[in-house]
Amino acid sequence: MTKNADSKQTQNQQFPIVFGRDEHNVSRNELSENALKVLYRLNRGGYDAYLVGGGVRDILLGQHPKDFDIVTNATPEQIKKLFRNCRLIGRRFRLAHIVFGRDIIEVATFRGHHKEDHSDKQKLSKQSEQGMLLRDNIYGSIDEDAERRDFTINALYYSIKDFKVYDFANGVADIESRTIRLIGDPETRYREDPVRMLRAIRFATKLDMDIDPKTREPITSLAPLMANIPPARMFEEYMKLFLGGKALENFDMLAEYELLQYFFPHISEDIKHNSDGNAAKFVRTVLRNTDARINQGKRVTPAFLLAAVIWHRIESQIQVFTEQHNMPYQDAFFTAMHEVMSEQQRCIAIPKRFQLPMKDIWFLQQKLEQREPKKVFKTLEHPRFRAGYDFLLIRSEIEQGDLVELANWWTHFQEATPDTQQQMLKSFRPTRQRRRRNPRKRKKAAE
Ligand code: ATP
Ligand code: MG
Repeated sequence: MTKNADSKQTQNQQFPIVFGRDEHNVSRNELSENALKVLYRLNRGGYDAYLVGGGVRDILLGQHPKDFDIVTNATPEQIKKLFRNCRLIGRRFRLAHIVFGRDIIEVATFRGHHKEDHSDKQKLSKQSEQGMLLRDNIYGSIDEDAERRDFTINALYYSIKDFKVYDFANGVADIESRTIRLIGDPETRYREDPVRMLRAIRFATKLDMDIDPKTREPITSLAPLMANIPPARMFEEYMKLFLGGKALENFDMLAEYELLQYFFPHISEDIKHNSDGNAAKFVRTVLRNTDARINQGKRVTPAFLLAAVIWHRIESQIQVFTEQHNMPYQDAFFTAMHEVMSEQQRCIAIPKRFQLPMKDIWFLQQKLEQREPKKVFKTLEHPRFRAGYDFLLIRSEIEQGDLVELANWWTHFQEATPDTQQQMLKSFRPTRQRRRRNPRKRKKAAE
């Protein structure tokens, strides 16, 4: 692979660098059947068709791509004419989705450059005052398309016509030196789309690569641009960063580059001031467990992680409401849950299907403290008991104190025979002071 590249890489490099079919390891066996179908049909329809982006990059790295992105010179309307199972989507980027049951192959049309003087193109392309691209539907040639891509390693095209890899930005060399490098001027590219800062971090951890100094350097100073990203897009990025098996590394790197606060403002503040505190330890433990599960191919609930990252904020708000506003504990708990959730929604739009289980997990933290016989069995029957109990276990590991006894009690209770369970319930003496979260009230009661 290198031989060809080296011989062609001179100071005045002519792009693309072309790798013949015996000079790279991208083979049709590595592509999904559906991706191949789409490529072939576009090609037979008289259009150019390439596999691009993560698909080519990951195969070159010896990994298995998680999806296949296809690009063509056919317009979305022309693509729609070729495929019965085609849906056109997107406003910011107009794309075709070719739907095969649950598998969706995304097909994009080559994107062109934005020329500010073309008033007739205003409807197709739009830029915000900060230079951010709001609409990007100008079609172009393959070279223009390559320049519009984010990183050099993502501007590699595998052609279905000749099985060659076309490298438009020295991406193969960067794959070999394991470098994440933006195409073009980094500051301009981040201003166009600040999410590229997140993508730089995600690819660095996912592919175990380093971010090139010029690509890395502007990130912290441009981080405030993240505030312009709609919460729905932030949620998509959250999923990619935190549910891809590298959550802990991404969390630390986001914090290092001052990007974490745009996802989770409170934990971000917390770790800045107290990186060894219980809140940070708790979140790190949950992130580590999540990564381990994902890397073992086990399922994870996105809600559990979200519930954990925000938990310390709920606890501190409960304390504020009980101590400063004299609210009863139960009311304070619900008010905190509500407020913190809406506060969080302003950063990342968490879908309802995750909000409900998050609230259940939090709510169960309170329920698990109550060991009156009737309540215990009700808690045990709660559909999300398992998640709530797992959450308690991790809290007890970190916080120690009363929580260890509580967590152990629930562990034993679940394993115990009905007789032993009855004994455990009888011998348990509820004490009012158990409400650890309300130290001031306890003091008052003691006076
Ligand atoms: P993965 O699918 O493993 O997350 P990917 O590189 O395929 O990685 P996608 O988000 O699927 O990432 O995007 C496909 C391709 O589209 C990228 O490889 C890149 O070329 C281009 N692309 C995606 N997002 C951007 C962006 N914000 N700016 C410029 N190009 C982008
Ligand atoms: Mg992809």
